[in-house]
Amino acid sequence: MKLIDVTKQFTTDDKCLDYIEKMRWPHGVGCVHCGSMSVSTITRTAGKNKRTRIYQCVEKECGKQFSATSGTIFNDTHLPLTKWFMAIALICEAKKGLSALQMQRHLGVNYRTAWHLCHRIREAMQEGGLLTGEVTLLTGVVETDETYVGGKVKRKGRPYVKRDKKDVVIGMIERGGKLRFIPVKDNKMSIIEPVLREHISADATLQTDESAIYTIFGTRHFPGRHRMINHTRSYGIGDNHTNTIENAFSLLKRGIYGSFHKVSTKHLPRYCNEFSYRFNRRKEQLAMFDATLKNLTRGEVLPYKKLTSQVSGT
Ligand SMILES: [Zn+2]
Repeated sequence: MKLIDVTKQFTTDDKCLDYIEKMRWPHGVGCVHCGSMSVSTITRTAGKNKRTRIYQCVEKECGKQFSATSGTIFNDTHLPLTKWFMAIALICEAKKGLSALQMQRHLGVNYRTAWHLCHRIREAMQEGGLLTGEVTLLTGVVETDETYVGGKVKRKGRPYVKRDKKDVVIGMIERGGKLRFIPVKDNKMSIIEPVLREHISADATLQTDESAIYTIFGTRHFPGRHRMINHTRSYGIGDNHTNTIENAFSLLKRGIYGSFHKVSTKHLPRYCNEFSYRFNRRKEQLAMFDATLKNLTRGEVLPYKKLTSQVSGT
């Protein structure tokens, strides 16, 4: 089943609400304020775009009303849930990313709405570790390299073309496993070394090219378990290659230059997260849809105000 078929299933806000309820309360509706399972249902006459399914806590000390979207990002939006669901599916499916302009065309909403929607969904597309603070280590054969993105050309008042400093992205991938992109401000050893050590298990086999930085790093931390390919001679000899991470970099770059045209340094970490999140779940798109939706219903992790203050003024 493809994701687009799934979205055909969510033709009304009511069906979307059913899904959110099941996801949020797999063991039955519980009060979002006090956690009590003693709740009653309130029927309300439906107005336009109004959420009609309201619950009331029957605990004496609480007694508050709530709905399936209370405390979630969906509560602060006038956009129908059907459009939210469609937008999540579209972003999950877009291998190279989706621009706000493309989102605007697909959903038939104005640009500003589309732009906001993209940012909020992207914020929810983060590896679990970033939300919970725990980082799992990459293991097995881990290909590592860095790439450079961006760098606006400056021409104003200059006789020559000068480029802005490019952003550095460190890429690490377990062969047949997880990918990670970490943007850093410089390609110095002092900056790259702690990042690699934070993400790569000490018992992994390191696979890099022969650049000076990896030669030193490998000798220091992966003695006897570091394989290097000389790129001036060959792109790969048998298993000795960095093609997996190179392919992942080219996907990231096609996304950045193709769908987004340019990405400012400020937003680069979010794009890097989005790409690795999608790459790591590419074979389980339905699970990706659910995980993204679940993150969006975690009100405490993704407060609406924090998100809008992060993305406003850009
Ligand atoms: Zn309650």
